[in-house]
Amino acid sequence: MTAAGPDHGSDGDRVGAQADEVDVVVVGGGPAGMAAAHTLGRAGHRVTVVERQRHPRMKTCGDALSPRAVAELAGLGIGRHDLDAFHRIDTVRLVAGHRSLDCPWPAHPDLPAHGYVARRDVLDALLAERLAVPGVELLEGYEATTPLLERGFVRGAGVSGPGDHDAEVRGRYLLVADGANSRFGRALGTYRRRSWPYATAIRSYWATPRHSEPLIECALDLTGRDGSALTGYGWVFPLGDGTANIGVGVLSTSHEFRSVNTSELLQRFVNDLAERWELDPEAPLAPPVSGRIPVGGSVGPSAGPSHLVVGDAGGFANPLTGAGIEYALATGRLAGEILSDALTSHDPTALQRYPTELAAAFGSPFKIGRVLGRVAGRPTVMRQTARLLTRRRRIGEGALRIGLDALRTDDAGGAETLARLARTASRFAPDT
Ligand SMILES: Cc1cc2nc3c(=O)[nH]c(=O)nc-3n(C[C@H](O)[C@H](O)[C@H](O)COP(=O)(O)OP(=O)(O)OC[C@H]3O[C@@H](n4cnc5c(N)ncnc54)[C@H](O)[C@@H]3O)c2cc1C
Repeated sequence: MTAAGPDHGSDGDRVGAQADEVDVVVVGGGPAGMAAAHTLGRAGHRVTVVERQRHPRMKTCGDALSPRAVAELAGLGIGRHDLDAFHRIDTVRLVAGHRSLDCPWPAHPDLPAHGYVARRDVLDALLAERLAVPGVELLEGYEATTPLLERGFVRGAGVSGPGDHDAEVRGRYLLVADGANSRFGRALGTYRRRSWPYATAIRSYWATPRHSEPLIECALDLTGRDGSALTGYGWVFPLGDGTANIGVGVLSTSHEFRSVNTSELLQRFVNDLAERWELDPEAPLAPPVSGRIPVGGSVGPSAGPSHLVVGDAGGFANPLTGAGIEYALATGRLAGEILSDALTSHDPTALQRYPTELAAAFGSPFKIGRVLGRVAGRPTVMRQTARLLTRRRRIGEGALRIGLDALRTDDAGGAETLARLARTASRFAPDT
């Protein structure tokens, strides 16, 4: 990819305690950026993470950590000892109308059978502290504003810090980890494939005496103002601290997507569950906040001659659930490994392996998710699906396996068969 933007060859003001040029500059200190920085630091490389906020900082999120996220965190050295401070979840409750079905997390040989709900200010501060191993410098309160380009290669970022202090952070390589809006990524030429789905979601926190339930609840029967079924779900994710994170997320494939008012949808959803969860629907603990979630690897290109793109900046969230923390961690780790190889072998072409390895790791689940998301965009299909999932345990559990990217290679069950069919169907719709 040819990087766009002005060429900078100047000797600008430098910030940070590390040497003039580090090995990798990471733009964004969320889960994706910190996972990459940790992987590089552990391999002996020098990394500067530029983070425009200061931890603990809030991030609009449902706060749910799936078993896949728990497994990724364990690989980064963040295990039970740290995570047990959060609220542990053993069961997923699927709800449609008056019916509900409680399912354990899908059994999978590589994944634990539990997840957590963890407020993002607390989780991300923990990651920033624990993943900043020797060699990793976290430069908080600095916003990366401009890519520094030399002969088409990105060599760092112009940054703006406290008191409008402008400076430069220079590195051999750069990692784009600046989240869903990814202004920095777009300055380097990334764009979202317009025909692919994306999600929009909104959440807030409510006080509830049922905050310590060891389950998360997902309501599959969201409807638009005209009563037609929406592709998406409403959630109640209890935090174990007197509160629950409650939100709704809708996929852009929904028939009525353009006319959805998410604030109004959330309020209707909370009104409906208020009695069951014993909460005051009119008293959220903070104003609801919404955000867009690019999903299914919809943003690219993911690699340039001297930079890679990870996490939400690359659209790496699950197309069916909107969950992105696990993919932020996984793509951060993968990009960190590839950059480490490039540094050790003095071979920048190693970066071109990244898109191929991404496709091998996530291409199939993302494609299945995009295809199923499109099919479920029809209101009647979504309504029937919601009914089926809560009435038939095998179907509900199979759907969870697909939705949570927990398909097994050793088991040709119904979920695996459906996934195979979706994969086959997607061959006839290559741009899905
Ligand atoms: C309403 C909602 C609910 C969600 N619920 C869930 C859920 O329950 N579970 C789940 O797994 N996922 C959920 N997601 C998705 C999840 O939040 C993201 O996928 C995840 O945070 C991606 O991590 P990231 O590191 O790529 O980006 P982020 O977490 O967004 O981190 C990016 C970081 O970059 C910093 N930054 C941005 N621009 C710059 C710049 N120019 N210079 C320096 N720093 C910069 C930001 O301050 C931020 O700290 C939800 C998303 C939304 C919107």
